[in-house]
Amino acid sequence: MVSSGAVPPGAVVDVADERGKFLGTALYSSSSQIAIRMISPGKVEDLPGLVRKRIQAAIAYREQVLRETDAYRVVFSESDFLPGLIVDRYNDLLAFQVLTQAMDSEPLRQTVLSELGDRLKPAAIVERVDPRVRELEQLPARASSLALGEKSNTVFSMNGVRFHFDALLGQKTGAFLDQRENYAAAQRYARGEALDVFCYQGGFSLHLAQQCSKVSGVDSSRSALEVAERNAALNGHEVEWIEANAFDLLRDYADAGRQYDTIVLDPPAFARSKRNLETALRGYKELNLRALKMLRPGGVLITCSCSYHVSQADFAQMLSEAAGDLRKPLRVVERRGQSPDHPVLLGVPETAYLKCFVVS
Ligand code: SAH
Repeated sequence: MVSSGAVPPGAVVDVADERGKFLGTALYSSSSQIAIRMISPGKVEDLPGLVRKRIQAAIAYREQVLRETDAYRVVFSESDFLPGLIVDRYNDLLAFQVLTQAMDSEPLRQTVLSELGDRLKPAAIVERVDPRVRELEQLPARASSLALGEKSNTVFSMNGVRFHFDALLGQKTGAFLDQRENYAAAQRYARGEALDVFCYQGGFSLHLAQQCSKVSGVDSSRSALEVAERNAALNGHEVEWIEANAFDLLRDYADAGRQYDTIVLDPPAFARSKRNLETALRGYKELNLRALKMLRPGGVLITCSCSYHVSQADFAQMLSEAAGDLRKPLRVVERRGQSPDHPVLLGVPETAYLKCFVVS
């Protein structure tokens, strides 16, 4: 229980149950549907000091779990006990995002910047603003900008594949780092002719290109495909980039009887809330049905959902229905999630959002 009467936005508050028993310390938001986010089960005397320690622990954890990459999520909000803070690393650049009133306070911003600067010695740190989040948190509008240093472009690598990164362009905080280990898995299974649907800047496509005789990547965003083409050139691969609505293209290709050995489906989150779960599942089913139809015997489908509201069980059920409609037996080769720099915190189900099934 928290009594919110005179509590200022972003305050550090004690949390107690209805009988007054102390439960821990939280950061308060006056405007969010999530009024408090727990930061410690104990008392917090020195919040900046605690934030520094949490950043150090987050960095130490990544050193334990990462392989073959200089691009990863350094801080993942609740999963790193730093609610409202996201930090990504792309080689020598860091990008951070503030999601709550508390993390937006000037003292905490300064603490975060100085700790990241001291520990990771980046060439530059960029703030990536999500205007919608700032509106919801009733924070003043801000533009994405350099918070430290001058550099905003770099090249980073995942599993030996190289990518351009421009810190002041692109969606989210740049690339989809949560898919990094799924790229490597897709590459292991990929062969023959491949189709990467919702390819963005070519994350899956360029991994598939290491194994496949031909790769086509589909996305509706021209600017994403332009970066994808630069990424292909950087790695010396040829990929066919197709600017199209994936739903239309899959319908046309499936109707025309096209066949592939490897297909990737990685759509944006269809279920933004529990309310549109049914509609979202229909969308997933349509895509997966068409992809399965186009899969050659023995082919592999790598199919993803980043909607938290679609559970792993829902997703498996949807796939099973799609296969059932086609009277096609389907084996689950692997059930995968997000890469371990986006840790899942047990007891906080919202931190487990990415599903990636490899089926054949
Ligand atoms: N697979 C990518 C990430 C995909 S993000 C990677 O690993 O990097 C989702 C992508 O879907 C975005 O690039 C977005 O532009 C694209 N997209 C959204 N709606 C689409 C549609 N109807 N048809 C095609 N692409 C779409």
